Amino acid sequence: MADIILTINAGSSSVKFSAQQIAEGKLTPLALGQIDGIGGRATFSAKKTGGEKTEFELDQTHARIDHRMALSAVLDWMDGALSGSNVVGVGHRVVHGGPNFSQPILVTAENFAALKALEPLAPLHQPYNLAGVAAAVETFPKAAQVACFDTAFHRRHPFIADTYALPRKYYDEGVRRYGFHGLSYEFIHRILRYEEPVLARGKVIVAHLGNGASLCAIEAGKSVASTMGFTALDGLPMGTRCGQLDPGVVLYLMAEKKMTADQITDLLYRNSGLKGMSGLSNDMRDLEASGEQSAKDAIAYFVSRVRREIGGLSAVLGGLDCIVMTGGIGENAVNVRKAILEKMEWFGIQIDWDANARNERVISEKGSPTVALILKTDEERMIAAHTAELLGLKQPLVPAIS
Ligand code: AMP
Repeated sequence: MADIILTINAGSSSVKFSAQQIAEGKLTPLALGQIDGIGGRATFSAKKTGGEKTEFELDQTHARIDHRMALSAVLDWMDGALSGSNVVGVGHRVVHGGPNFSQPILVTAENFAALKALEPLAPLHQPYNLAGVAAAVETFPKAAQVACFDTAFHRRHPFIADTYALPRKYYDEGVRRYGFHGLSYEFIHRILRYEEPVLARGKVIVAHLGNGASLCAIEAGKSVASTMGFTALDGLPMGTRCGQLDPGVVLYLMAEKKMTADQITDLLYRNSGLKGMSGLSNDMRDLEASGEQSAKDAIAYFVSRVRREIGGLSAVLGGLDCIVMTGGIGENAVNVRKAILEKMEWFGIQIDWDANARNERVISEKGSPTVALILKTDEERMIAAHTAELLGLKQPLVPAIS
């Protein structure tokens, strides 16, 4: 019987999962899948590694599919498609670990309550992440449940990168720059330590540029600053999120436009960023294909903010040995990457434009003071690795930095 680590990323309207076999300390991806339309009529889709995609609508006798029903569907599908598998651990993506959780944890009744208490810090994500945990406890009762946090990698930020210029009591109450995308940064940095150990010990910026986007400055393996803050709204503009915004804009929307908190939440999380600016789409490919000026403006704004933050984080680091581009845009968008990295020779970034056009692993010129790399991120694999490591089933890829 094959031992399986399942990873779950439960959101308000979807549950993404992956199944990875764990044998002799090695993880092998077996399947990826997704349930969309939670809270209403839902569809299930899944694909075994190297296999065909299966897609169907979930049981229509239930008017509303919830997280527990979604995980039952995963179990049913695995019983057929991955028969003979034994789920030994379920690793959950949990967006917020608050000020205290700096590592993945085995979920217990006690720390589950502590995670519930963090819901006000991430109301659009944490409740659904935890609904996924509760559903997995019921659906896979014999498996260990492990929570892996998007914030954990940033928990050792120095005070100045962790605070806002507000009275200290707000910091003490938890109003901090938590930073997110930590599982992606940790995965990238582990790959770097494995493949480029000298660079990994130096000053590194990782640019996670996808539908969500942020940058992280890493020194000697530790996150020292990131562009995201108290929530995943701050920093770079994203698919639908605004990125950096003067808080005065929010005050204006409240006082003059009489917008409610819910309306402003909707505006800043779901209708801003590339989608809001272009009025067309949150998807970079659509904007690149469009001839509209508003699409060009949205891309130009995205590029300019990324460039600006690269400069800022380099100043924080006091130099830059390596920049890594990752995420859907970072890994694939040749022209956007070019616009971000051009005219940076003065700064020590010398790009080989042919290598950039071919999406090669190393895109800087030989001898460039800063090495520029494209590395594919894999948050599911990071969650599975954490889960296996916590259960003592896997040797870490490289020893953790204490
Ligand atoms: P992610 O959230 O990491 O899956 O990234 C999604 C974003 O990557 C979307 O904006 C996509 O349009 C963008 N993307 C993916 N592939 C490409 C590509 N070949 N060219 C431009 N953008 C891409």
